Amino acid sequence: MNYYSLHHKSPKTTFKNAVVEGLAKDRGIYFPETITPLSKDFIDNIENYTNQEIAFEVIKQFVGDEIPTEKLKEIIEETVSFDFPVVKITDNIASLELFHGPTMAFKDVGAKFMAKCLEYFNQGNDKEVTVLVATSGDTGGAVANGFLGAKGVNVVILYPSGKVSDIQEKQLTTLGQNITALEVDGVFDDCQEMVKTAFLDEEITKTLTSANSINVARWLPQMFYFFFTYKELKKLNKELVFSVPSGNFGNICAGIMAQKLGLPVKHFVASTNVNDTVPNYLKDGKYTPKPSKATISNAMDVGNPSNFIRIQELFNNDFEALKNHFSSYSFSDDETREKMKAIYKESGYVADPHGAVGYLGLEKFGLNENEFGVFLETAHPVKFLDVVEGTLPVKVEIPAQIQKVINNKKVAIKASSYEDLKAFLME
Ligand SMILES: *Cc1c(COP(=O)(O)O)cnc(C)c1O
Repeated sequence: MNYYSLHHKSPKTTFKNAVVEGLAKDRGIYFPETITPLSKDFIDNIENYTNQEIAFEVIKQFVGDEIPTEKLKEIIEETVSFDFPVVKITDNIASLELFHGPTMAFKDVGAKFMAKCLEYFNQGNDKEVTVLVATSGDTGGAVANGFLGAKGVNVVILYPSGKVSDIQEKQLTTLGQNITALEVDGVFDDCQEMVKTAFLDEEITKTLTSANSINVARWLPQMFYFFFTYKELKKLNKELVFSVPSGNFGNICAGIMAQKLGLPVKHFVASTNVNDTVPNYLKDGKYTPKPSKATISNAMDVGNPSNFIRIQELFNNDFEALKNHFSSYSFSDDETREKMKAIYKESGYVADPHGAVGYLGLEKFGLNENEFGVFLETAHPVKFLDVVEGTLPVKVEIPAQIQKVINNKKVAIKASSYEDLKAFLME
């Protein structure tokens, strides 16, 4: 499978190169050259397939012959090794719980898949690859965990000091081995900017790649759980509406890709916090990125979502077509807290702030009686312990995978400017 850059100034490249490079030379993000729908027979009989078989069917055209079938199946086995429960909250709304993996956020799926692909592609190469990643919270932990021990791969994680939760910080600063954390004096956008600068810096001779959702190997496997959900809910005979709490818009973009592959989905709602660049765009057609604002759903504090350009490409840059299949709404922290309380009161369900934003999006969209809404519960409530326990009358039990890191010692290198990152990379 070939990929092209959405800036259209670099040559097409293979899956392998797209994974190893992350971004194209012209700084554009990669997009698959062809998208072939899966057979109707497969979709109609999806309940007869295991999650592993579904994932293989979904991803194989995007990998092509660049990873042998048996190896790809092995990678998938490790990627979807946990549950993806769809939990009914009301008559017409369910939570798709994506937090049953090792770091308890949906990013475990993409991070593991990418780590295994990169390790495969770099085997037998004596030059190490350095993965540079900026995180607003969850990416760091998922990438650290997914890449831990990957041979020939070093990982450098940049995170904004004081702006990720304690548990998130522990998840990305305590693993050691091939994982290094840089604690940046700034906000997420500063971290992302430093990463971008490093990619452009010709004095850095290390092979750099990105593990943000711009990387096709992190982005594409996120299609899997949209298919798993359809498999679960098909028997309801309703039209599905997905609401995806969105920051960089990689997750929702994967959902739209799944739809392109033939997955029956009625509508997508991108639910955001007050970082409302996309909701504003849908109002007036003007895309105006702005600096991110800190919120209680911090994994979505993104002012210039890097995957939105892929969504536009999926709709052939047709604004009207986009608006017919895709809505986006923004919610404040107060609305989010109120919704967490309301959900808890009505059903006893504990939603984390991101999930609550997703729920709000479904309500604002307004489901009709033929529709069934699914919001993605993108992280376990324990990852936002202060907010959840400060809002709801609950004590969140600390799951085993969190307990494991919570008492470990944080190790991070302070960085206040690009020069600090550069010095580290030149060592
Ligand atoms: C990363 C993340 C998001 C945003 O996902 P995108 O793919 O960047 O839109 C939402 N919720 C949680 C908990 C996350 O970690």
